[in-house]
Amino acid sequence: MSYDFDLFVIGAGSGGVRAARFAAGYGARVAVAESRYLGGTCVNVGCVPKKLLVYGAHYAEDIEQAGAYGWSLGEASFDWATLISNKNREIQRLNGIYRNLLTNSGVSLFEGHARIIDAHSVEVNGQRHSCERILIAVGGWPQIPDIPGRELAISSNEAFFLPEMPKRVLVVGGGYIAVEFASIFNGMDAQTSLLYRGDLFLRGFDGAVREHLRDELSKKGVDLQFNADIARIERQADGSLIATLKDGRELQTDCVFYATGRRPMLDNLGLENVEVKLDERGFIAVDDLYQSSTPSILAIGDVIGRVQLTPVALAEGMAVARYLFKPEEYRPVDYRTIPTAVFSLPNIGTVGLSEEQAIEQGYQVRIFESRFRPMKLTLTDNQERTLMKLVVDAKTDRVLGCHMVGPEAGEIVQGLAVALKAGATKQIFDETIGVHPSAAEEFVTLRTAVR
Ligand code: FAD
Ligand code: NDP
Repeated sequence: MSYDFDLFVIGAGSGGVRAARFAAGYGARVAVAESRYLGGTCVNVGCVPKKLLVYGAHYAEDIEQAGAYGWSLGEASFDWATLISNKNREIQRLNGIYRNLLTNSGVSLFEGHARIIDAHSVEVNGQRHSCERILIAVGGWPQIPDIPGRELAISSNEAFFLPEMPKRVLVVGGGYIAVEFASIFNGMDAQTSLLYRGDLFLRGFDGAVREHLRDELSKKGVDLQFNADIARIERQADGSLIATLKDGRELQTDCVFYATGRRPMLDNLGLENVEVKLDERGFIAVDDLYQSSTPSILAIGDVIGRVQLTPVALAEGMAVARYLFKPEEYRPVDYRTIPTAVFSLPNIGTVGLSEEQAIEQGYQVRIFESRFRPMKLTLTDNQERTLMKLVVDAKTDRVLGCHMVGPEAGEIVQGLAVALKAGATKQIFDETIGVHPSAAEEFVTLRTAVR
């Protein structure tokens, strides 16, 4: 049977665009449907605008510190509307680049909501297209718990377009988005509280990293409230909000921002028309080759809920394109040493195992740690401290994990990820010449194990 397309990709986000472009480049006839915005979450309401806002927030500290370096800047003021409109202009430019990337690589782009009709057909804007395979790359959507007043809360989707900067913000959650946005709001001088339901945020990260960031955020003025969760939200006559916590306390604020995880975006996708199984968390269940329980339907990226990061969605997209259309170049995605950064202020950069994970996996570990004041701050009153930590297998000397909290941690950890993937030992770290003066050189000069 001949189909209109070899591959029909639903979703022009990180994973979908990568898979579509590579598949078309390998000679496949490819279509992509996109209902909202080209480039997906990362470009429009994720990584890119988030990082621009983090840069914006960091200027507060840069301006404060400039005096110690001899600069006098007069009275500084911040205009949220300018930042948002410049950010929007840049995102529009990126949307155009994504459009060109797709069309120049010969992909047919359908702008509209796609629904799966059967195992080999998809409908967009009332038009049906037949295809040999369907790739679901629809990403995720913020999930706000069903509490009374949840409609008064916002998520990251809305935060990027707030007409004005709230004076007081309650951030709920203890994951990536919560700590990043707490840093953004705090940097922009909003009175910021972060409420997390457990003892300490960033579950899954190294314990020392979590504690260090807790201390640094507190020093910067973020009001951290652990073991705290909201029971209901109500609007007051003056327009402000009252959040009543489960322990009965009432907090008054102008904005409640929920960052409590993301669900797969399966709304009106037509999954009821096909046999596509979901896993126990509701994400699309796929095998090692991203094939769902219907062999002609595959899925990648946030919708499979493995690791919700753009570079992972890109790698999965590339793996699918190669496996289907250039099998001789196929390489499975290596999920073991995925570096990641949390763009809080200060940043977290991490790759490999945390101390706790290493111990849990039965390793005998040697721990190397360094804590210091970044050189740039030595002329200033700022008391921020950096943490660097290595987790080493005592038996083989292999470095199992590298962790940092401090300026540019996200940049520094990328190079360390190459070393870890290559299986570097602590001895290789020790024999590597440092870059001086830098913070990064600490990673090759950690001589004495602290544990
Ligand atoms: P997406 O990028 O979400 O793309 C899915 C696309 O499918 C969307 O454009 C959507 O409109 C479209 N779609 C959905 N349903 C349909 C349909 N039925 N028909 C047609 N189109 C449809 N990751 C990082 O690595 N670094 C970061 O710094 C980072 N920061 C983030 C900050 C925030 C606030 C958020 C929310 C996420 C962040 N992420 C970050 C995660 C990253 O954005 C995602 O992991 C990544 O975008 C997933 O790519 P994807 O292709 O799976 O889905
Ligand atoms: P995360 O899964 O990282 O964190 C969710 C947080 O919300 C956790 O602290 C969780 O607590 C808490 N939570 C979950 N449900 C509830 C609830 N019902 N009530 C109260 N608290 C709750 O999700 P995010 O939304 O922060 O981000 C989604 C994903 O996007 C991230 O996991 C990451 O993969 C990606 N991302 C990556 C970024 C980066 O690379 N820099 C930046 C932003 C997002 P608990 O730990 O107790 O379960």
